[in-house]
Amino acid sequence: EETAGGAARASEREGDAGWGAEAEAPEAFFDVLVVGCGLSGCTIAERCANELGLKVLIIDKRDHVGGNCYDYVDEKCAIRRSMYGAHLFHTKHERVWEYVQRFSEWIPYEHRVRGRVMRDDGKPVTVPIPPTRETVNKLFDEDVRTDAEMEAWYGRERKLPPNGDPPANGEEAALARVGERLYEKVFRHYTKKQWDKEPKELDASVLQRLPCRVTADDRYFSDPHQALPRRGYTRVFENMLTSNDLITVRLECDYFELLRRGKFPRRAFTVYTGPIDGYYASLGMPRLEYRSLRFEEEYINDTPADSENGYFFQEAMVVNYPGADVDYTRIVEYKHTPNQPPGRKDRPGTVIVREYSSDVGEPYYPVPTSKNRELYEKYAELAAREPHVAFVGRLASYKYFNMDEAVLNALEMFDNLKEKGVLAVKR
Ligand code: UDP
Repeated sequence: EETAGGAARASEREGDAGWGAEAEAPEAFFDVLVVGCGLSGCTIAERCANELGLKVLIIDKRDHVGGNCYDYVDEKCAIRRSMYGAHLFHTKHERVWEYVQRFSEWIPYEHRVRGRVMRDDGKPVTVPIPPTRETVNKLFDEDVRTDAEMEAWYGRERKLPPNGDPPANGEEAALARVGERLYEKVFRHYTKKQWDKEPKELDASVLQRLPCRVTADDRYFSDPHQALPRRGYTRVFENMLTSNDLITVRLECDYFELLRRGKFPRRAFTVYTGPIDGYYASLGMPRLEYRSLRFEEEYINDTPADSENGYFFQEAMVVNYPGADVDYTRIVEYKHTPNQPPGRKDRPGTVIVREYSSDVGEPYYPVPTSKNRELYEKYAELAAREPHVAFVGRLASYKYFNMDEAVLNALEMFDNLKEKGVLAVKR
């Protein structure tokens, strides 16, 4: 088993220390420069090399590949965990599912989330999220037993916008789906903690990410394919990048620093996957908001064998805390995933990670407000006029892509560049 960082860490990779002659004039050696080794960058790099025979240089300022999907086996507890928060792969897109399976074996895994919620009488309960009849029964002393009864319950609770208008913001979206009481218990404070904005200030789409069902189905996602890579996400990225010798990876390599030093002339074709406003920082336009996360980890060695949950701290990989009583949004216990080292679940010891939302730190989420959307459009207009640069991915497109949407978008961007003749077969 790989240890912390594994082979994907710059310091452990052979030959990463010295750039060769190509450092002096990369455009003479490479056909395409890809900035960022996350899902979008790696997908484009892999396609450029394997479908078109292009020589690709892919760089990242971090010392590892995989972007925010990066995971590793933590030496302190022998548990595979993510460095930047839980990543659950799920997709309904057959093209994406077929594509990702080229780089790993995947273990089916249906994600289920629980929420620790305070009832009005002050008693804490643990309930399914997204809400099911069990959630409603436990929280409000209801006795909902069938899909039809659940539908009727929602019918009484829901508050639809007047005149049949679609919900204009996050709050209206939540009220239209679940009504006042569930909104208050499960969505309102969580959303405020996550975005540091009132749901009213956010686009309706954010609050529509979670499914809203009347059935007893308590899965977090409804997609037909839900799985985790057997040897972790990092291995998937390594397999993508080593699938063809035409791909060169350079880590701890800051694009803007290299530009300043005249290493990458802007005429070299570039796929840029970083924040789009960072690319245009020198123009002095207002910056886009990105939400970040802060993680507080705790190792627990004596998870008791006879506790209700066996050798676990909590009953699910993710337990949400949607109340205003604690500042964190959720606690993640990676030990629950099916791609742990063999036998790991049957031994004591675990690591849990409390997740706090933050406005400082690495960018994770675009913040879906109308102000940001309008500002992004201005950046997008500039981007559309760049003949030698394609902007791809969550940060460059300023879109709240799920993992599979990032892959699909990168594949489609690649198709598009190919059709337009920007990228053409070389070898
Ligand atoms: N959300 C909520 N309560 C929850 C879970 C989610 O209010 O217990 C809302 C919240 O606004 C959040 C959004 O749903 O930002 C999307 O949640 P998701 O779990 O999809 O966020 P991610 O996993 O991408 O951080």
